[in-house]
This record gives sequence, structure tokens and C-alpha cells, in this order.
Amino acid sequence: MADDDWRLQAQDRCLQGAHLRWETWWPYVGGWDHDHCEFCWVHFCDHVFEDDPNSKLEGFVTDDNYHWICRECFEDFRGRFGFRVEAPEGQPRE
Ligand SMILES: [Zn+2]
Repeated sequence: MADDDWRLQAQDRCLQGAHLRWETWWPYVGGWDHDHCEFCWVHFCDHVFEDDPNSKLEGFVTDDNYHWICRECFEDFRGRFGFRVEAPEGQPRE
């Protein structure tokens, strides 16, 4: 992963070592109809936008339910940011 990857902005502060879990997207505040991936800004929403067939219905979210990360960016940045992922129910934690 290059240091000048276009997706890298100022996520280090809030996402370094972030604890994430895989969730279906829901509005952080009632009335919000979408969020964006913290890195690539792909849409997260509860349906696929007509003008964005790439909209995501699920993704990785931080403990505060505020920051969403798509699977692709998670895979690309997990090493750099040291993301920790909650294991599925009944599974031992990593
Ligand atoms: Zn992304």
C-alpha cells in the first residue's frame, strides 16, 4: 500500500488500531439515508442507490457506530492501521 494512496486522508487519528465489527448499515442519526466509506467514499445505505449500483449494504463499523469501512478498504488498510475485528458469535477472538 503506497503512502500516497488517494484514499489516505486523515484517518490515522480516529482509525488507528480501531476495533471493528461487520454489520448491516443503519443510520447513526435518524433521518440519515447514507454514510460513506472512510477511505474510498463508497456509499453505505439501506438500499442500492439508483445512481450508484456500487452502494454497500454492509460493512465494517467502529465501536462508536460512526465510522464505516468497506470490505475492500478494510483488506487494503488492515495491516497499516492494525484494525482489530470482533470474532463472530461463539468464535474465539483473534
Ligand atoms: Zn472503501
